[in-house]
Amino acid sequence: MISVEEAQRRVLEPLSPIGIERVSLVDGLGRVLAEDVVARLSHPPADVSSMDGYALRAADLAQAPATLPVVGESAAGHPFAGEVGPGQAVRIFTGAHLPKGADAVAMQEDCQAAPGQVTVKVAVKPGNFIRKAGMDFAAGQVGLSAGRRLTARDIGLLASMNICWLSVRRRPKVAILSSGDELALPGDPVGPERIISSNSIGLCALVTALGGQPFDLGIAPDDPAALAALAQQSKGADLVVTSGGASEGEYDHVKAALGPIGLEVGFHKIAMRPGKPLIFGRLGQMPMLGLPGNPVSALVTAQLFLKPMLRALMGESPAVSPLARARLGRDIGANDIRQDYLRAALSLNGDGEWVATPFDRQDSAMMSALAKADLLVVRPPKAPPAQAGAWVPVLPLADGVLNT
Ligand code: AMP
Ligand code: MG
Repeated sequence: MISVEEAQRRVLEPLSPIGIERVSLVDGLGRVLAEDVVARLSHPPADVSSMDGYALRAADLAQAPATLPVVGESAAGHPFAGEVGPGQAVRIFTGAHLPKGADAVAMQEDCQAAPGQVTVKVAVKPGNFIRKAGMDFAAGQVGLSAGRRLTARDIGLLASMNICWLSVRRRPKVAILSSGDELALPGDPVGPERIISSNSIGLCALVTALGGQPFDLGIAPDDPAALAALAQQSKGADLVVTSGGASEGEYDHVKAALGPIGLEVGFHKIAMRPGKPLIFGRLGQMPMLGLPGNPVSALVTAQLFLKPMLRALMGESPAVSPLARARLGRDIGANDIRQDYLRAALSLNGDGEWVATPFDRQDSAMMSALAKADLLVVRPPKAPPAQAGAWVPVLPLADGVLNT
């Protein structure tokens, strides 16, 4: 059995980013940039006012209050064509270009307007309430770098850089295959001897959520020839994922069935719980991940291995989510030699700290508990008992919940 960290290292080692496609900016949400994006213009494009008020020369307010004639107006999109001379002011609005000659803006709350003139009650420093040209970003500057998965905020930023098209990694094609005589599809008429193949459906959803393109190959019965035949249909995918049949029981055929069609096993079995029987290898040229059948094991190992693999295929960095930490919500016992991933709920304590409370029941068939969980509490091998309030490493299930 190898450690989780070693296994993560090994599954990522052979992977490199896949091909590139062009998408319009509005389709870029959640996609991973394949190239640096360079701003096509500067923001702001010129020195602009950050307030409604009056543009003037700061030196004219040395003896404030001062009354100045108002010689024109500069509004957003309608700059003042002339120049502000000594002793003059121009009415200005937020976002409007600072007129030539002016070096400061007095905000209107500090001014008393009268027809044709304004009395400014306070002195201001040069540069007051001015956003300098290019303060946000300058044309030619790298706005976002390759490897970034785009958020809604990023899309807004790129729009402001006048970017219309993006080079992103294409969606990795992931072939998903489940195996087991007991499996049926949702909606099938099922007798008590049947269960629904929830793994394949959940894995397809995970792949979609991560920006990949899942192909559900369906269910293979517990028959090596049938399993191999179905697995052959994964040709052309970037990654093939199986679930079930990965342990050592009489009906666990994945390794034996796929050997004759080119499976080379890199490792089998990881010192973790849930999810000890995990196969990683290569089916021909294609990376292959053989997940355990127990639904919680399948989806937790998918978080730890499939997710980083998809990220690596998309060139995203870092591929492996760093662990955060949270206070433990209740006492837990000592751990054995397998790294444990306890399903836990997240809450806040009175000091505003994150608290992770592991559920009482951690059975790897309990999907309801996994769905309810906000994070996994990570218990390293041989961790001693830990008491409520202790800091423990955690892996958020939704990215970005905890960023310590
Ligand atoms: P196995 O790894 O094939 O021995 O399966 C372990 C457990 O996971 C058994 O209880 C199976 O019924 C269950 N299981 C296997 N495949 C799936 C699947 N696709 N969806 C839900 N449960 C599954
Ligand atoms: Mg089975």
